[in-house]
Amino acid sequence: MPGTALPPTSRQVVFPSAGVIETAEQSLPSPGQDDLILRVALVGVCATDLHLLAGHIGDPFPLVPGHEFVGEVAAIGEAAAVTRGLSAGDRVAVEMLLPCHGCARCREGRYNLCEADDPSSGLPHGRQLGVNIPRTVSPGLWGGYAEHLYVPREAIVHRLPDALAWESAVLVEPLAVACRAIARGRVAPGESVVVIGPGPVGILAAAAARAAGAGRVIVVGTRANRLELARRFGADAVVNSRETDAVDAVHAELGGRLADVVIEIAGATGAQQQAVRLVRRGGRVVLAGACGANAPVTFLADEDLLTREIDLLPSFLSAGGFEPAIRMLERADFDYASLVTHRFGLDEVREAYDVIENRDGGVLKAVIDPSVGVSAR
Ligand SMILES: [Zn+2]
Ligand SMILES: [Zn+2]
Repeated sequence: MPGTALPPTSRQVVFPSAGVIETAEQSLPSPGQDDLILRVALVGVCATDLHLLAGHIGDPFPLVPGHEFVGEVAAIGEAAAVTRGLSAGDRVAVEMLLPCHGCARCREGRYNLCEADDPSSGLPHGRQLGVNIPRTVSPGLWGGYAEHLYVPREAIVHRLPDALAWESAVLVEPLAVACRAIARGRVAPGESVVVIGPGPVGILAAAAARAAGAGRVIVVGTRANRLELARRFGADAVVNSRETDAVDAVHAELGGRLADVVIEIAGATGAQQQAVRLVRRGGRVVLAGACGANAPVTFLADEDLLTREIDLLPSFLSAGGFEPAIRMLERADFDYASLVTHRFGLDEVREAYDVIENRDGGVLKAVIDPSVGVSAR
């Protein structure tokens, strides 16, 4: 295998069951012909990871979490090197989704909706690295909270510019989610965009709206420090919906009009209802926030929807968003790395989650650096 200098094992974080965090060593095979092994440089901590640990998502334990990984090719099979045009040492981002590439949804580009089961593993469709592939499936290197990740043939791999710092590159997945949401909303130059939910993806959605040429970008939320941060990522105005009526405030900011496009990424049914009330007649509402299982949302069928003919557009995961996200990171119109506020090692996942749950120190994006705390082995 060209360029192979793999250690015998890879250290990884394992959730063996709900609420339990361990670290383990997993043996590191050579990649198959069509596969590669990624050395993880950084992996973002996502709210999804905390839900996985809590058992809320119902995904299979034991699990290696982490789906926001970037790194470099540690070893690559000969066929994969040819088809992907990659060799050891190249810097890449890998999408979490493992689509079949053959079903009707995949062929129309909506591979986030892949309908195929994987015949080789018998696993259901929608397999996602770091989310729903149990560690018991060989070789057990399916999550990003690890020194290494196994990247099979069906994975979608994007080359990263050599000059892009890992601290910026690690935001590619949340930025890709934001780019998909903006694309789903068909944001056109000059249009007004409201983003509800100034978490990492919401702040990046403001930046993506700006990159799409939006005329005026307004971010709505409830946490003052995050709203202020949004101003540095493309927001012309911010609205604290705890202090003021959001509809009135958006009206005022848009000269008496409502928004052409509203992006909801707060992940709350109340925010989805608010989104519908912030958009103009005939406008578009993108629902990109996950609200959790059994979260019914109510709209007024006639007053909110029928007579206003708004387009309700769910946006799921990041399909099609990585390439525009990489170009945005490369252009560096915003100080992306400043969103990474905290860095932890593989042994510090509990501390990381405590910081996030307690909202300590204005945490925005925490990342895990597998090289932290590792001496020469
Ligand atoms: Zn995520
Ligand atoms: Zn498919």
